[in-house]
Amino acid sequence: MNVVLVGPPGAGKGTQAAALEEKTKLKHIASGELFRQHMRDETELGKLARTYVDRGELVPDDIVITMILERIFQPDCEHGVILDGFPRTKEQAAALERALEEHQQKIDAVIFLNAPRDVLLKRIVGRQTCRNCQTPYNIYYSPPREEGVCDLCGGDLYTRSDDNMETARHRLEVYLQQTAPLIEHYRALGLLHEVDGLGDIHEVTARLVRELGINGELPHQPRT
Ligand SMILES: [Zn+2]
Repeated sequence: MNVVLVGPPGAGKGTQAAALEEKTKLKHIASGELFRQHMRDETELGKLARTYVDRGELVPDDIVITMILERIFQPDCEHGVILDGFPRTKEQAAALERALEEHQQKIDAVIFLNAPRDVLLKRIVGRQTCRNCQTPYNIYYSPPREEGVCDLCGGDLYTRSDDNMETARHRLEVYLQQTAPLIEHYRALGLLHEVDGLGDIHEVTARLVRELGINGELPHQPRT
């Protein structure tokens, strides 16, 4: 089963993809992490991607799709994948569908993880991370016991420079413009499952598992 995870910044996609991977045997593929990995390993695709990154340009869709396809056919993905970070536009979705089809693969479900705008903004601008152990906090939703200090290790908490209100609003605008047509595309294909991203992390994960109808146990689906 191949799942695409879409949703606005702050909806908790990364967190939920990791939780789903743990519960369901589906492998989490974060496209950004995938091409950073290729660049670190200096693969042919990684070197190609770097020529764009070094010029400050976006890595072209066909390179990202080639990386995703290659990843999907590795043995640890035999039960399927959760794609996170790609596709972001309707055009990318169509290109990905064509490429998958050529390899007798398809997208089986699309999870649209959503939350109200004020919650998304607070999740983004409230985000803090421990400089020492990287534990994430949120000053609105999961604050540390003592302001600015990590509960676990006593380290300093910091806010990423792009997690400010102005940038957060801009990221939401960009998301709405690009991703709204993508969501309509998947809705029209009958693949869309809208999941409420509000509330406790474990509750949201349980909703995702229910929506996908996999109850934490995924039947073995050998590749033909
Ligand atoms: Zn810490």
